[in-house]
Amino acid sequence: MLYESTRGNYRGVTSAEAIKLGIAPDGGLFVPCDRVTIDGQKLQDMIKLDYRERAFLILKEFLDDYSEGEIRDCLKLAYNTENFASPVIAPAHRLRDGLYILELWHGPTCAFKDMALQILPHLLTRAASKTGEKSAIVILVATSGDTGKAALEGFKNVPGARIIVFYPEQGVSEIQKLQMLTQEGNNVAVVAVRGNFDDAQSGVKNIFADEAFNLELQKANYRLSSANSINWGRLAPQIVYYFSAYLDLAAQNVIAPGEKINFVVPTGNFGNILAAYYAREMGLPVHRLICAANTNNVLTDFIRTGVYNRSRRFVKTISPSMDILISSNLERLLYHLTGRDHSRVARWMADLHRAGSYQVDEHSRNKMRQILWSDYADDKETLETIRSVHQRYGYIMDTHTAVGMKVYEKYTGATGDGTKTIVASTASPFKFNESVVKAILGDQAVADKDELELLHVLSETSGLDIPAGLKDLDRKPVLHKTITDRDSMAGVVKDTLLG
Ligand SMILES: *Cc1c(COP(=O)(O)O)cnc(C)c1O
Repeated sequence: MLYESTRGNYRGVTSAEAIKLGIAPDGGLFVPCDRVTIDGQKLQDMIKLDYRERAFLILKEFLDDYSEGEIRDCLKLAYNTENFASPVIAPAHRLRDGLYILELWHGPTCAFKDMALQILPHLLTRAASKTGEKSAIVILVATSGDTGKAALEGFKNVPGARIIVFYPEQGVSEIQKLQMLTQEGNNVAVVAVRGNFDDAQSGVKNIFADEAFNLELQKANYRLSSANSINWGRLAPQIVYYFSAYLDLAAQNVIAPGEKINFVVPTGNFGNILAAYYAREMGLPVHRLICAANTNNVLTDFIRTGVYNRSRRFVKTISPSMDILISSNLERLLYHLTGRDHSRVARWMADLHRAGSYQVDEHSRNKMRQILWSDYADDKETLETIRSVHQRYGYIMDTHTAVGMKVYEKYTGATGDGTKTIVASTASPFKFNESVVKAILGDQAVADKDELELLHVLSETSGLDIPAGLKDLDRKPVLHKTITDRDSMAGVVKDTLLG
């Protein structure tokens, strides 16, 4: 399997090269050049396999320059019961007949980013050695919360890799900050940046763009790399859980062989739902993909009208991991919808860069609407949904999942479609506990309580244990104390590596 850039100026690279590079040098994203098909018989044969075996059969098709042993090693290091609190890795919880919640948050940081970031470091370090890289890989991350911690947990103690995470000093929640400051591992650094997320992000971008600095690091045998969600090594592992969820329901005879189902996906950067799109293209029986947005509903407008317009007010919501106005991974969907028309994709991306918007042609728009349906939920609807789902089913969902649930209700209301449906659940309710407790117990219950106290409130209300990754955070030693200005971030990288 070879990969090429969505924009056409970089072709014929192996999966290891695509994963090592992350983004294509022409600014595009790497996409597989051939279609992978899992036919009905193969799907049937996969029913009896466990998560890791299913993952192996899917990943080996996309990563065929890795040996089978390498892929198995990576899978074993990632998807095990030390890292995941559920033996089935991503369990599907039955809410009622025909409606299931796919829990993607049993990994170490309690959010779905773990599904990819537990395996990416192993794929990446092997990609480096397979492509003749002699330097150690240094991952730089700017985070607004979830990604930084998930990347730290994925990369900690991985031989041949170092990781440095920059977070805005005032821009993350107390729990998120403590999760990062108490991070253990012999190759990790966590640094506070004076400023907001944009300061941290542009600081990291400047470091990547600084050729002299990169050369200096290279001489010391370090190569900078990124672990963000446009890396193919993050996308491919996400295809697996759509197959696995389908197979789990098939194993329970909830769905008949070949029966089509819907997936609902709470969406931000379009990575998670794009993996579902790939699964559908590979032959997984999927009727509709329902793209759920919050008030930052740029994707809902796009899917309905074919016009992508980022020029709108950015709103901070209670589902912050979906507060995104530029969904980078959408570029891959455009590439496939246009039948791999690089020049059209490049033109639209140039329009987006220049004018803040683009409009796709009628044919692509119609093709998109056959597969995707979208709506959004605001904060009020999100809280109401958490409350009503808890009342009706005794199940507690986080804010992002509740956005998905509400949009699913809107979907059935609008279409009457009774197809069996799986809602992707992207975070544990403990991770966004303030909104969750407020929704279930009312404003009074959260008054004067910080997030650490609310963990206990939620645990008592739900009867569930506080997840290991969030427990006793205030008792763990703070291991990272560096604070820097945006303009001094390169210096911190140098000190950390060359010390
Ligand atoms: C990252 C994230 C999302 C959005 O996923 P995308 O792949 O960016 O669309 C949704 N929910 C949670 C909790 C997340 O961390």
